[in-house]
Amino acid sequence: RFSTAVAAEEPITPPVQINHTQLLINGQYVDAAAGRTFPTFDPRNGDVIAHVAEGDAEDVDHAVAAARKAYDEGPWPKMTAYERSRIMFRTADLLEKHLDEIAALETWDSGKTYEQSANVEVPMLIRIFRYYGGWADKIHGLTVPADGLYHVQTLHEPIGVAGQIIPWNFPLLMFGWKVGPALACGNTVVLKTAEQTPLSALYVSNLLHEAGLPPGVLNVISGFGPTAGAALASHMDVDKLAFTGSTDTGKIVLGLAAKSNLKKVTLELGGKSPFIVCEDADVDMAVELAHSALFFNQGQCCCAGSRTFVHERIYDEFLEKARARASKRVVGDPFKKGVEQGPQIDSEQFKKILKYIRYGIESGATLESGGERFGSKGYYIQPTVFSNVQDDMVIAKDEIFGPVQSILKFKLVTNHPKHLDKKKKPLSLALIDALIDNRNLDEVIQRANSTRYGLVAGVFTQNIDTANALTRALRVGSVWINCYDVFDAAIPFGGFKMSGNGREKGIYGLNNYLQIKAVVTPLKNPAW
Ligand code: NAD
Repeated sequence: RFSTAVAAEEPITPPVQINHTQLLINGQYVDAAAGRTFPTFDPRNGDVIAHVAEGDAEDVDHAVAAARKAYDEGPWPKMTAYERSRIMFRTADLLEKHLDEIAALETWDSGKTYEQSANVEVPMLIRIFRYYGGWADKIHGLTVPADGLYHVQTLHEPIGVAGQIIPWNFPLLMFGWKVGPALACGNTVVLKTAEQTPLSALYVSNLLHEAGLPPGVLNVISGFGPTAGAALASHMDVDKLAFTGSTDTGKIVLGLAAKSNLKKVTLELGGKSPFIVCEDADVDMAVELAHSALFFNQGQCCCAGSRTFVHERIYDEFLEKARARASKRVVGDPFKKGVEQGPQIDSEQFKKILKYIRYGIESGATLESGGERFGSKGYYIQPTVFSNVQDDMVIAKDEIFGPVQSILKFKLVTNHPKHLDKKKKPLSLALIDALIDNRNLDEVIQRANSTRYGLVAGVFTQNIDTANALTRALRVGSVWINCYDVFDAAIPFGGFKMSGNGREKGIYGLNNYLQIKAVVTPLKNPAW
């Protein structure tokens, strides 16, 4: 039932040296105050890559003190915006120069393919630094036409010390999405990396300093969530918290922020995103995009298209092609050219995904492809496809975060004008009705929306009315029409409902790191 072109072999030696395993505090790499370290593992075989300093509350205190000083006494917010922007541009140049090592480190620590790290993620990180470097000297307030004889202006000021907690699935991208806008707006930062992937942020932060970043502006703490992460979320001297990770942890950090100093919180959380293929869609294109929407990054994406809704009239054709595509997916050493899928991040996620596959089988979904571990070493899982998935099955409700595609069937009568009774109304009115009358789309809209998440959706149709109606009805932060996973630096990203709040990237991403001060001056001195 399942075949892949490449079998698991002896791991390829990563072409990179590990230079930084200590915490980065006040511009210096230092050991943890308690002297503790923790291992970070190679997901290809579970071997230890390196022992990394394990930060805890005391280290978070030191890092926050350094960030506080760099903010309150300068130089960062007091530098000209142009100087800040130049440091960010120089950083982008250095990232470009070291692209190969950075990509290798990212692949080694996370298991994602080297081709993905080198061709997608490091270039996107570079783009983020150029994008937000470009914003640094273009952030300004407004003059406000208030009633009365007043001159009113708004100042867009940095918030202060930003605490940032990131996950392991896109360590470098999450670093960029958080650090880029925070620095552009003039904040200082204490960032906690995920315990599974501490290495790339430590390497990249050194390049920021080489580019001229003053000490204390960016501090990086490696360590665990309930210790270092919780200390950052509850710190009284942290002014803002940005978190990406699971919805359950999002609730915890929001609670810690509320219980401490009410720091402002933005959250980027999980998803269970619908990928809707209408009967008029280009089936071959939809199959390929649905495949990558789910299997990209080993299925470890918050925005994975993890509920593939397919119209009943094209369901059989779609299913056959989706199964064939998954069976051809090349699994193997992520450093090997041509490999599409590496191992899952760690044994915990590996076991969790295999458990969900068992749930799928037990609940009566049809296993079309895969379903087992791949090879005998490391955390590889066969690309898995389930058909006949029902909305109430656990695999259709929970975020699996692995290479498991769930295909569901739906009915939809396309709202095309040719189906409307033109004699009754002029066409323009009929078109307006078609847009606002979602009766024929009700089933798929209701099912797509019936989740606690609301991160993204994919809509595949050649009918603009259907696309418009679905776009407006879906309660999600991004809708990709006839495309998926488009992550330009300028496009905002974030969730409705329990997928989070706030938007990262683009002009909207600046709002997370600015606060507005209203300044009112009488136009005429009252004493005159
Ligand atoms: P996680 O929530 O366990 O961990 C995320 C981060 O939070 C890590 O750095 C971790 O150390 C830290 N953390 C854990 N417990 C903490 C605590 N008590 N206090 C403070 N910090 C704590 O999530 P994960 O398993 O690392 O990542 C996978 C999840 O993240 C998935 O659910 C995925 O959907 C989500 N995610 C969302 C986005 C997005 O943009 N919406 C992006 C990537 C991942």
